[in-house]
Amino acid sequence: MFDMQHIAELTPDLLSLTPAEARARIAAWLAVRGEPPYRVRQILPRLWQRPVGSWEDATDLPAPLRRGLDDAFPLPRFELAAHQVSRDGTEKFLWALGDGEAIESVLIPEGRRRTLCISSQVGCALGCVFCATGRMGFRRNLSAGEIACQVRELLLRDASPQPTNVVFMGMGEPLLNWTAVDAALTILNQPDGLGIGARHITLSTVGIVPNLTLLAKRPEQFRLAVSLHAPTPEVRLALMPIEKKYALSEVLTALGQFRRRVTFEYVLIGGRNDMPELADRLADLAAPLGALVNLLPLHPGGAPDLARSSRAASAEFARRLKARGVTAVLRRSRGLDIAAACGQLRVELEPRRKVPAQEHARVE
Ligand code: SAH
Ligand code: SF4
Repeated sequence: MFDMQHIAELTPDLLSLTPAEARARIAAWLAVRGEPPYRVRQILPRLWQRPVGSWEDATDLPAPLRRGLDDAFPLPRFELAAHQVSRDGTEKFLWALGDGEAIESVLIPEGRRRTLCISSQVGCALGCVFCATGRMGFRRNLSAGEIACQVRELLLRDASPQPTNVVFMGMGEPLLNWTAVDAALTILNQPDGLGIGARHITLSTVGIVPNLTLLAKRPEQFRLAVSLHAPTPEVRLALMPIEKKYALSEVLTALGQFRRRVTFEYVLIGGRNDMPELADRLADLAAPLGALVNLLPLHPGGAPDLARSSRAASAEFARRLKARGVTAVLRRSRGLDIAAACGQLRVELEPRRKVPAQEHARVE
C-alpha cells in the first residue's frame, strides 16, 4: 500500500512518474482534498493518452479542480526554439527547456513508419571522436518527463505527425542516465502512458556494462542497438574513449544476457575502421550473436577532420559481412541538409539565449 500523505508530499512533476506512480500520486492528492476517487480516471489520461498543454484545457473537469491541479502539478512545456524540415521530409525540433538548456529531437519518416529520435542527456560526456554531441561535452541529465515529453510535445502540436517508433539516438548516452531512462521506457511503452510497443522502442548505447544488465532484466522486448564502430580494442580505443572503462570484450559478453537480437551500429570512417580485414573481424563478433549490422555513412558535422568511407569501400565492407553470413544494411544519411541525422545533434544555441522561432523554415 502507498502511504497517502507521503505520496502527496512528493514531486509535483507527474510527467516524470510512471503511469502507476502518477495514478497513486493523483489518488493521494484527491483524497487529501476530499475529491471523489473516480476523478483519477479523468486526470491520468491527460498526461499521455489524451494530453493537455495545461490543466485549464481539461474542460471535462470542474474549474476549481483544474486550478488545484495547476497549483499542485504544473505541466512544464518545452519551447520550440527552432523547427526545420529537410528536403527528404526529416524534421528537426530544437526544444528550449525550462532552465535555458536545449535539446533536439528528429522525426524521420520512412514509408508508413515515423521514427522519432530522442535525446536522453544535454550533451554527452563520452567524447567519441566522430560525434557532434560528444564535442559539446556533458551538461546535464534529462528527467524522465523531459525524455518522454519529446513525444508528448509532438502530440500537442496538431501540425506534427505522431511518431510510430522511438529511438534513443539523439543527444546523450541513455545508459548513463539509467534511472530517468528506465522510467521513460515505462512511460513510452505502457498503455496508460504513450502506448508505443516495446518492439518499436530502441535504446542505443556504447555499452555501459553494469547498466546493460539492468536493461536486460526488463521483461519487455525493447530493442537494443550497440554503437560498436570497431571490431578490435585498438580501433575502438582510437574512436571511443569509453573503451578504457568498458572494454569491447566486456560489452560483447554482457550482450549474452539479452534474449533478443541486437543491432550493431557501425559508422564507416575512411581509413580508420573501414578496412576489409576489419569487416572480417566484425563478422566474427556479429555472427555468433546473430547480430544485425547497420553500416552508417559518417555524417560530416560530427568531425570535420574525419572522412567518410568511399562508396566502393563501404560496398566491399558490406559484401564481406554478408559473405560470412551476417545481415548487414548500408544506410543512407537522412536530413543531411539540416544536420539532423541521428547522432548528429549538437545544440547551436548559446546557453540561456533564446533563438527566434523559425516555424517550418524549409531548408532548400
Ligand atoms: N550515445 C548513444 C546514443 C546516441 S548516438 C550511442 O552512442 O549509441 C546515436 C548514434 O549516432 C550512435 O550509433 C552514434 O555512433 C551515431 N553517430 C554519432 N556521430 C555520428 C556521425 N558523425 N555520423 C554518423 N553517425 C554518428
Ligand atoms: Fe556520446 Fe553516443 Fe556521441 Fe559517443 S556517439 S559521444 S556515446 S552521444
